[in-house]
Amino acid sequence: MEKKKLIAGNWKMNGNLEANDALVRALVAGMKDAACSVAVCVPAPYLGQVQLLKAGSALELGAQDVSPHAQGAYTGEVSAPMLREFGVRYAIVGHSERRQYHGETDALVAEKAKTALAHGVTPIVCVGETLAEREAGQTEEVVKRQLAAVIHVNGHCISEIVVAYEPVWAIGTGKTATPEMAQQVHGLLRKQLGAATSHAERVHILYGGSMNAANAASLLAQPDIDGGLVGGASLKAADFLQIVAAA
Ligand code: PGA
Repeated sequence: MEKKKLIAGNWKMNGNLEANDALVRALVAGMKDAACSVAVCVPAPYLGQVQLLKAGSALELGAQDVSPHAQGAYTGEVSAPMLREFGVRYAIVGHSERRQYHGETDALVAEKAKTALAHGVTPIVCVGETLAEREAGQTEEVVKRQLAAVIHVNGHCISEIVVAYEPVWAIGTGKTATPEMAQQVHGLLRKQLGAATSHAERVHILYGGSMNAANAASLLAQPDIDGGLVGGASLKAADFLQIVAAA
């Protein structure tokens, strides 16, 4: 059976009670016939709101980060068990904005992924090169290093992660990787997963970085692109639903 694609919205630090209400209602109404899985990764204060709004629908809930610790004296952190209480299925880990602005290392990202998995939250592990790294011919080395850190911590349960390839230069810039460029990296990541697990084909490898209604279909047509992690275009129901329809 062909694996369903996964389209996950990453709202980042956007939204408010009123806008979220309208957006989630429109998504729930508009995704009834979706052939793919659909998730929204929302800011932590809104998890409870979106959990109630999506009740009874196929829309899945995600967080944008998770603590590497399960509980304790970690002021400001949100744990995977807390996320589970709000029906959270996914947590983004290692987004480039967190690597860049919060100094998250490969080792920390791996710890977060491991803790999330241990508590029933599927990590969406983000990897991707900066423009300088791409121009220096380091794309392969960078994404492999980022993924290896997570695989080696979680060797036995790698098929439970989602991987998102997000070239940093494509995020929020309107510059998308061409389907061929993206497929090339996705193929490498699949191979790397294949060396670590017999389930590599089952792992979703999402593309992220200025995915929109116009470019989604050609990206999603690539053999190793199993869905999308969508930032800006996930904030408008019509745009996001067009991407869902393309999957
Ligand atoms: P973008 O963001 O779609 O706005 O480029 C994607 C992401 O950062 O996950």
